[in-house]
Amino acid sequence: MEYENMLDRLYMVLPDRTASKERFEMPVLEASVQGKKTIVRNFSQALKAVGRDEKQFYKYVTKETATAATMDEGKLVLNGKFFSDNINRLWQNYLNEYVLCHECKKPDTQIIERNDVKVLKCTACGAMSAIRKL
Ligand SMILES: [Zn+2]
Repeated sequence: MEYENMLDRLYMVLPDRTASKERFEMPVLEASVQGKKTIVRNFSQALKAVGRDEKQFYKYVTKETATAATMDEGKLVLNGKFFSDNINRLWQNYLNEYVLCHECKKPDTQIIERNDVKVLKCTACGAMSAIRKL
């Protein structure tokens, strides 16, 4: 009986697995320096996961880093050396502005254009936030 009690308690302290699986997990960019370049290996994959156009983040990252880059077979190649942490900080900023709802922080959003202004529209809470054009 004691063993069963322990199991009960174990289940209580374990996080709810199904709940955390349903929550959207933001992909992390896998960036590494090769020579004088920085390769983001899972570029296409990450953009697909957040439902955004590759070109959008491409523009964002080249603007923010003031660096030229090329897209090559699902990878992003930046002409410069960048730490993975820095690339991921940019990625996080991008997600905060262009993917996550500015109000409720959920990723259930779409980008629409209203009177020539780009707007991030949240399908979860209905919030609309203006975003910078890229
Ligand atoms: Zn929202």
